[in-house]
Amino acid sequence: MMNVSLIGVGLMGQALSEHLLNNQIPLHLYNRSAKKCQSLQDRGAIISDSPQAVIDESDICLLMLSDATAINIVLDSIEPISFKGKLIIQMGTIAPDESRAIAERIQSHQGHYLECPVLGSLPEARSGTLILMAGGSEKDYQSALPLLQIIGKNPKYIGDIGQGATVKLAMNQLIAGLTASFSLSLALVEKEGIETEQFMEIVRSSALYAPTFDKKLDRMLTRDFSNPNFPTKHLAKDTNLFLSVAKNLGLDTSGLEGVSTLLEKALAQGLADTDYSAIYAAVSPEK
Ligand code: NAP
Repeated sequence: MMNVSLIGVGLMGQALSEHLLNNQIPLHLYNRSAKKCQSLQDRGAIISDSPQAVIDESDICLLMLSDATAINIVLDSIEPISFKGKLIIQMGTIAPDESRAIAERIQSHQGHYLECPVLGSLPEARSGTLILMAGGSEKDYQSALPLLQIIGKNPKYIGDIGQGATVKLAMNQLIAGLTASFSLSLALVEKEGIETEQFMEIVRSSALYAPTFDKKLDRMLTRDFSNPNFPTKHLAKDTNLFLSVAKNLGLDTSGLEGVSTLLEKALAQGLADTDYSAIYAAVSPEK
């Protein structure tokens, strides 16, 4: 039986932990705010009071933390010698260079590091259908594979460390762009008093349709962005990461800069912790 731990029991960490426990994977957990672990303890997880304790108790440690700052703060609290022989799998969305720097600090103490960011949200995490984009050595990938196959049906090995992170940023740029673009068209139609369902029938029958439009439609029309799967603050983070990586590579990011402005506006409107479909509120102010 795999000896697995997970650090970072936020929205995704919680959903993923539920799924692993449902699959009879014994789990050691650590979260900065201990109360988020309570329901998982009731379901059989062992809760530790420090990252050090979870690393010591496991062979494979999943990190599901907000960003590279959080990851580095957590790693700072662990004796570097404890990384020896352990496999750390980083699943949050961070920049390729950030991932490479984290790899270096773990590998320099004979630890193993795999990046494995995920596409999909809470329902996919709970049902083991996340899309996984791994980067690292093939050997580390193979040793992680039995666990990854429980987390996502068809994990993808992308290549070196940084390449999985890159593909994930490319996917989230699509999330930001598609959501902003759909918001603007929907808002125009709504403001002109056109029947939104009629507009949607046309969108759905066209080559321009993306399933995410229907997933977010009700939230936008009712302006109810509560109970987020993926919060606005994290999409804003990912958009900024994409912008910085793409600019360094000499790409023209002016299209995404407009989307980033909308996300910043949503954050300023107090929508950081709501669902990212709150981009709609930034696009279309209420009368
Ligand atoms: P979240 O609910 O905000 O959880 C963030 C986690 O990071 C919490 O466990 C939080 O601990 C911890 N954390 C933050 N700062 C910390 C620090 N300084 N020290 C220790 N722990 C710290 O975020 P999430 O939605 O689960 O997302 C996690 C990662 O996955 C992000 O990189 C996100 O972009 C990515 N992602 C999310 C989704 C999604 O649909 N939600 C999908 C794909 C990828 P506390 O509980 O103590 O605050």
